[in-house]
Amino acid sequence: MHDYTPEIDELADDILAYAKDRVSLDPTPMGRSASAQELYDALGPTITAEGIGSHRALKAFTDVLAPACLSVDNTRYLSFVPAAPTEAAILFDLVVGAESIYGGSWLEGAGATYAENEALRWLCDLAGLDDQSGGVFVQGGTIGNLSALVAARGAAEAKLRDQGKYRPNRWAFLVSDTAHSSVPSAAMVMDADAIPVPTGPDRRLTGDLVARALDEYGDLIAGVVATAGSTNLGVIDDLTSIGRVCNERNVFFHVDAAYGGAALAAPKARQLFTGIELADSVIIDPHKWLFAPFDCCALLWRDPDQARAVHAQHAEYLEFLDVYGDWNPSDFAIQLTRRPRGLPFWFSLACYGTRIYGEAVQRTLDLAAETAAKIEAAPNLRLVREPGLSIVVFERIGWKEGDYQVCTEKMLADGTGFVVPSRHDGRPVFRFCFINPRTTSAEIDAILAAMA
Ligand SMILES: *Cc1c(COP(=O)(O)O)cnc(C)c1O
Repeated sequence: MHDYTPEIDELADDILAYAKDRVSLDPTPMGRSASAQELYDALGPTITAEGIGSHRALKAFTDVLAPACLSVDNTRYLSFVPAAPTEAAILFDLVVGAESIYGGSWLEGAGATYAENEALRWLCDLAGLDDQSGGVFVQGGTIGNLSALVAARGAAEAKLRDQGKYRPNRWAFLVSDTAHSSVPSAAMVMDADAIPVPTGPDRRLTGDLVARALDEYGDLIAGVVATAGSTNLGVIDDLTSIGRVCNERNVFFHVDAAYGGAALAAPKARQLFTGIELADSVIIDPHKWLFAPFDCCALLWRDPDQARAVHAQHAEYLEFLDVYGDWNPSDFAIQLTRRPRGLPFWFSLACYGTRIYGEAVQRTLDLAAETAAKIEAAPNLRLVREPGLSIVVFERIGWKEGDYQVCTEKMLADGTGFVVPSRHDGRPVFRFCFINPRTTSAEIDAILAAMA
């Protein structure tokens, strides 16, 4: 099965043709969901002792499995956080797969690591982190957050050790009350607590609130997690005041900008993130709003040595790697073997240049503002708050939870759009998250009309 046979040659043509077709589709299919039984009935067993052959296997995917997945890059997919990878990034992802690069060490993946570091440098510069900073691409924001919190705990333990104190039985992190679910989940993995700090009506965590909570919890706190672009509302915490308090008190400061961080690339939005340069670590998911394919989260460290101290794995057979250059991507997060998943993002940045990234992000910010104005003008809709970044949250006046659900299912079935209900202050709402710069005003009009 490792021979390049005529059958495989044909398969290569078929696969490249299929991929090319998919990339060139406009619009991309919305797709649908399906039950396991339905898929089994259509396919039968696909894994057998003798194999079903490349032709049938590919057909199973193209005809049955692929249509049973939603296309996150559809311009009318506005739920959760969608994605909109660039053509160049998607195509290059095929090359990354073909190349068999081990992306964990400089020795084995010098070229790939060099390129990934270029892309990480761009992000560090956008965030205002200095030349010492650096990072690594990890699978997603969830692993990025967990890796950051582990480093925070390492720093907190070292600090207590230096002061001759014992570590607490159970660590805790102070987090925004808009923190993403992956933050408490990371704390749970660490057998630690994520303590949400109550905020005011604007939902923004501030330095004063953090200072008060630090006074209350003292040495239990291993770090502070601010959110720069909450997933439900797009709220950005007051990073400057939080950063100052953390820096003054020598408390690790992590900024979760998994969704929002992309807006650093848009010059008009940059000032919303002032203070992010005070962070010890930052995550930004290029697979969300920076047009990279899944899965790709940039984990940035102000002081990469701090990350290496907790994350580098040690084994006899790994020691040799340290002889060659000292930048082994595996050392900077919870991982060892890794795909150089930042390469498609790097390639796209190299092809198109950075300016157009800022323009594309700005286009979605404008779309959010325009949509909010339409909602305010609609008699049966109520804007819950001004858009936070590219997220617009609104109520359909007079509707109960079930009505939202019915509307969502109808829109998905007839292809109008994919918009699932969310909640705000306990009430059902609709929520648009704009990522795709190709989403049009006309598409928004059609979706709003379906809610009339
Ligand atoms: C999406 C998101 C995450 C989780 O990222 P994944 O890549 O889905 O693991 C974390 N934090 C925020 C604010 C997010 O929006």
